[in-house]
Amino acid sequence: MIIFVANCGSSSIKYQLINMEGEAVMAKGLIERIGMDGAKLSHTPADKFTVDIEAVIPDHNVGIKMALDALTHEEYGVIKKLDEIDAVGHRVVHGGERFSDSVLITEVVLNGIKACCEIAPLHNPPNLYGIEACMKLMPGVPQVAVFDTAFHQTMPKVAYLYGLPYEMYVKYGLRRYGFHGTSHKYVAQTAAEMMDEHMTDLRFISCHLGNGASIAAIKYGKSIDTSMGYTPLEGLIMGTRSGEIDPAIIPFLMEKENMNAQQIDDYLNRRSGILGISGLSSDFRDLEAAANRGDERSQLAIDVFAYKVKKYIGGYVAAMGGVDGIIFTAGLGENSPFMRDKICNGLEYLGTRIDPELNKTRGERKEISVPRARVKIFVIPTNEELVIARDTFNICRRIIKL
Ligand code: AMP
Repeated sequence: MIIFVANCGSSSIKYQLINMEGEAVMAKGLIERIGMDGAKLSHTPADKFTVDIEAVIPDHNVGIKMALDALTHEEYGVIKKLDEIDAVGHRVVHGGERFSDSVLITEVVLNGIKACCEIAPLHNPPNLYGIEACMKLMPGVPQVAVFDTAFHQTMPKVAYLYGLPYEMYVKYGLRRYGFHGTSHKYVAQTAAEMMDEHMTDLRFISCHLGNGASIAAIKYGKSIDTSMGYTPLEGLIMGTRSGEIDPAIIPFLMEKENMNAQQIDDYLNRRSGILGISGLSSDFRDLEAAANRGDERSQLAIDVFAYKVKKYIGGYVAAMGGVDGIIFTAGLGENSPFMRDKICNGLEYLGTRIDPELNKTRGERKEISVPRARVKIFVIPTNEELVIARDTFNICRRIIKL
C-alpha cells in the first residue's frame, strides 16, 4: 500500500510518500511560504537530489496539487499516476476529547475536526485545508486523521483538570490536552523494542525537545501526564514560547505594556522562551556557541531550560512511582550531547547515569546510559510521518482490497 502523508501548517506543507512494504520513503518534500512572496517547493525523491521549484502558491489546495504533480513528474516523480496512491494520512493537531485514536475521515469526523477549531484556531484550520484539498484532488481515496492530542487522551482527570471552576471545563473544554502525542508514542514504542520488552510493562519519560518542547509520562503504554496543556504554550520554556508562567503576569503585562489579547498572545508565543531570556536566538545551537564565548544570558537561557526539564522528569517519576527509561528526541534531544548531559547530571539517585562516550551520538537511535543502569537513557529520532503512515495503513487495510 502506498500512502501519502500530509502535515499542513499555516504556511507550510510537509509531505512524504511511503510504501508500506518495507516502510520505505519513496519521496518527501516541503512547501514553504504559502500565501506569501518567495513560496517554494523542495521535493526529494529517495536516493536523488532535491528539486527546488519556486512558484506562486496562494493556498493549500495549490500546494497539495504541486506536491502531487512532483510525485508524478516524468523526471523526478516516483509514481506514474495518482491512482497509485492508496490512502492519505493527515496530521491533525487537535482532536479535543472527541478523538482518542486515529480515524477514517468521514463527514462526521470532518465536522468533529471543524468543531475543534475553536480550541485550536491556529492549528486545525490548515489541517482542514489539507484534508479538503486531498479529498478534491484524490476523490474516493480513503483519508485518515492522526491527532497530536489522541495519545494523551488516556490522562486521568487529576492530570488534565486545571484549578478553574469546573463549569469552564464543561462549557469550553478548558483542560490539559497535550501535544506531540504521535512522537511520544513512537519513541516509547521504539524504546520498548530496544529493551526487548513490551511498552505495557514499562514506565517511560519521553522528552521531545525541539523548537516546541514537551515531556510525557508514559506508564505501562499509556500517557498519564504531559507538559503541554490546553494549547502548546504550556509547560517547558521553548524556542520562542514562554511555557508555564504565573497567570497573573498576563493582566499585569497587558496593563503595563499596553497590550491587547492578541499582542500578549503573540508576546508569549513568539517573543519569549529562550529567545526572550537570551535576547539572542531561539536556536540552541546559537546559544551554545554564544555561551562558549562567555555570553551570560545565553548561558542563563540554557540553564533555565535544562533545570525545567529536570524538574519535570522528577515530577513524572513521582507521578508514575518510578521510571524504567528516559528518552530524548526531536532537534535538540537528538542532537545535543551537551544538553542531554546537563539534564541528566544529578539524576544518579534514580539509578541512571549517561555514558559520556555513548552520549556523543547525534541523530541516531542509541542507548546512552552506562551498562547495566537500572534506568535506561535513550536517544531516539522521532518519526511522526511513519506513525501517521502506520495508523493509516492499519485503518485502511480493513477497507481497501489490494
Ligand atoms: P525541531 O523543532 O525538532 O526541528 O528542533 C529544532 C531545534 O533543535 C533547533 O531550534 C535547535 O534549537 C535544536 N537543534 C537542532 N540541532 C541541534 C544541534 N546539533 N545542537 C543543538 N541544538 C540543536
